Amino acid sequence: MTRPPLLDPASRAGPLQRRYALLINPFYPKDPNASFGKHMLTPTLALTSFAATTPEDWEVRYWDENLLDGRPPFRPMPELVGITVHLTFARRAFELAHWYRSRGSKVILGGLHVLSCPEECAPHADALAVGDGVQLWPRIVADVESRQLRSKYVATYENNYREDPAPRRSILPRQSFLTTTSLIATRGCHNRCGFCYLATDGLRMPYRMRDPQQIAGEFEADDQPYGVFIDNNLGSNREYLRKLCHALRPLNKIWSAAVSIDVTDDPGLIRTMALAGCTGVFVGFESLTDENLTDARKKTPKTADYARRVSMFHENGIQVNGSFVLGFDHDRKDVFARTAGWVEENRLECSTFHILTPYPATPLFKQMEAEGR
Ligand code: SF4
Repeated sequence: MTRPPLLDPASRAGPLQRRYALLINPFYPKDPNASFGKHMLTPTLALTSFAATTPEDWEVRYWDENLLDGRPPFRPMPELVGITVHLTFARRAFELAHWYRSRGSKVILGGLHVLSCPEECAPHADALAVGDGVQLWPRIVADVESRQLRSKYVATYENNYREDPAPRRSILPRQSFLTTTSLIATRGCHNRCGFCYLATDGLRMPYRMRDPQQIAGEFEADDQPYGVFIDNNLGSNREYLRKLCHALRPLNKIWSAAVSIDVTDDPGLIRTMALAGCTGVFVGFESLTDENLTDARKKTPKTADYARRVSMFHENGIQVNGSFVLGFDHDRKDVFARTAGWVEENRLECSTFHILTPYPATPLFKQMEAEGR
């Protein structure tokens, strides 16, 4: 769980198979009691979305190293390898890229870390996919096929999101996840908190929503009782969330989603969510100190009102998974006990705690850098 599978430098690769793409989610160290369970909950959608845009005469394979089934396959060698890169596992992604490139595959790197630090990633790839990979992947595949691969592909997130194809879930190992029904209905967030990747310099991601009936259709088609919305904030547009709930209710399934606490401004909406099958919400409270939230530029209700808002979810049978960030400037030594006490007092079903981390190219990073911290 803590060390990636060995990429033996001596192991010989198989023959290169043309029109075969391998999509890899690299390994990151896990805690058996925390992040491992979270990883097995439901797959991320990025790679399955790329798979959906791959031409039919290509074979596509998905390999998530975090499912602990060993190193990614190499016999035969894929003609094309797509690797997601996040700061947390950038080193492993580069290691994989080197291994496959040195044996003849073309390696494409994409993901958050490529967006925020393209110069760091470029030497490790044949090409970078910067921005919306769903638009870029078919172009990259076509250029690999015609041997005209360029070193960088860029796409914005301003396209009509409704037209994106449904993720190709059939490539997922179903038995490895609690549910393979990861769903995404919206993109972006009405907030732009200074520490969040959505505030990355140069990233413009207007809030976009997909057709509620299309989402309900995907949920039904995957034939599993529980779905997880992986949207950054499913509650950014309340009218949309209401329409989505109306589309989901007839399915008689259960689901969970991340929402910001301000959805509780509308008590009727919380009821509608519950009736549509919502059994859990992930809420980024971030801090119980108003000054910290102001510094982070998070538009949110006063923290003194958080407890009442949590109870609104509970009264509707919706569990609350709270997320807290520790290490803001107005935190003092008592922040740990105070936060844990609040979580217990308000009977949050689950909580996650994070150390404030300045991700490259975010406003928080720039502030810290300017202050020499
Ligand atoms: S509310 Fe959440 S998703 Fe939205 S910008 Fe803030 S941290 Fe990011």
